[in-house]
Amino acid sequence: MSINDESRNKMVSYLEKFGYIKSEHVKEAFLKVDRSNFIPGNLKEEAYRDTPLSIGSGQTISAPSMIALMLEVSELKFGLKILEIGTGSGYNAALIAEICGDQNIVTIERIPEVYQFGRENLKKAGYNVKVVLGDGTKGYLEDAPYDRIIVTAAAPQVPQSWKDQLKEDGMIIAPVGMERYYQELLVVKKKNDTTFDIKKHGGCVFVPLVGEDGWKE
Ligand code: SAM
Repeated sequence: MSINDESRNKMVSYLEKFGYIKSEHVKEAFLKVDRSNFIPGNLKEEAYRDTPLSIGSGQTISAPSMIALMLEVSELKFGLKILEIGTGSGYNAALIAEICGDQNIVTIERIPEVYQFGRENLKKAGYNVKVVLGDGTKGYLEDAPYDRIIVTAAAPQVPQSWKDQLKEDGMIIAPVGMERYYQELLVVKKKNDTTFDIKKHGGCVFVPLVGEDGWKE
């Protein structure tokens, strides 16, 4: 077993012990995907610390505990159709691909350099995930409707396009709030075109979702 594998096993034990990982499929995904493949060279040694890390252009790969929490509340299973907004490093997309299948996820990123970085990382790690360059505040109509829209940047509110691009019983999982350094993790479940159930899953801090229906640059 390599030092990397050992560190990954330790991180997964920690995430389980503190209740971030609850289900077998999320655990399996975390054991399988090597986070160091999604981190720039100078920070690779930090890969298995439970902390966000810089990926350039002022953006971050989220902390493993935050990702685990979001994946658990997303109630994922193989075959669900997923839109991830905020590709970043591609790590979360790889975890989702492990659970739902790489043909079932599309991920969108707005910064060209970050888009290249995430796309390359996913490709090198062997994931055939569709990565799109664009403004995710509009969702991504081409592959809609989705079972889940998983947002990894902080939205001031939930845009109507996300609600419209969701299937019935589908869920939006997103950090939402009007403050720069505090959001609430929301799960918004679509009952029908006009009725949505909203559940709050605690405070969090994400980089801003910038775009037409998000924060302005
Ligand atoms: N999921 C990522 C990972 O696994 O590394 C972490 C994402 S990082 C916390 C948030 C990302 O959202 C950044 O790369 C940022 O450029 C991107 N972003 C911000 N606004 C966006 C938008 N309107 N559409 C798409 N991506 C956006």
